[in-house]
Amino acid sequence: MIFMAKKAFKAESKRLLDMMINSIYTHKEIFLRELISNASDALDKLYFKSLTENLGIERKDLGIDLAVDKDNRLITITDNGIGMTKDELENNLGVIANSGSFKFKNDNTDTEKDDINVIGQFGVGFYSAFMVASEVTVESKAYGSEQAYKWYSQGVDGYTITDCDKEDVGTKITLKIKENTEEEEYDEYLQDYKLRMIVKKYSDYIRYPIRMEVSHQ
Ligand code: ADP
Ligand code: MG
Repeated sequence: MIFMAKKAFKAESKRLLDMMINSIYTHKEIFLRELISNASDALDKLYFKSLTENLGIERKDLGIDLAVDKDNRLITITDNGIGMTKDELENNLGVIANSGSFKFKNDNTDTEKDDINVIGQFGVGFYSAFMVASEVTVESKAYGSEQAYKWYSQGVDGYTITDCDKEDVGTKITLKIKENTEEEEYDEYLQDYKLRMIVKKYSDYIRYPIRMEVSHQ
């Protein structure tokens, strides 16, 4: 048996996560914009590295894949970008302070109105996945690494990082989409037309192909 120590999020990250998980924000769909933008950044980083170090990677080899598994309520966003090492998973996803796009204004932003303002004004980044997902898994293999790692979290109570098998360099993010509640509908994020619409609305400017695969039962 493998013992997996669950690590706690840093206090600020925990607060942002809380906000995301309990978000009453109506534009939850922006989670996809954030994840695609991160994927695009990772592709840019690998392409830039290739140019400066002559690695021979061509732009046309780089892209982003979206897949939906309706039966299991899963969405995956896969890129073949630069990937993350174990330390990078830890530092980039465990500590929100590292995110360039989010700063807490002050300590009393507890009202719903302020939450909405914060989400609306800033790119909230990776944690926005928790607006629609009850579980988030990030499997990543950094360029130049042999070993891949898996970051997994169900939200505020922390995350684990373990070894995993992943053949290709890059990052695969799997979201387990929340169940519908009386107040909130999440099923729509498992509809391919809805995802296509969100991609078109927010990610039209992305300079890499975004391919979509839908599994039908
Ligand atoms: P930001 O994009 O503003 O830096 P995010 O919260 O969106 O903040 O992401 C945090 C960090 O996690 C990124 O800066 C990047 O280092 C890392 N990251 C997230 N997604 C990926 C990915 N798909 N590939 C590689 N690194 C990633
Ligand atoms: Mg980002």
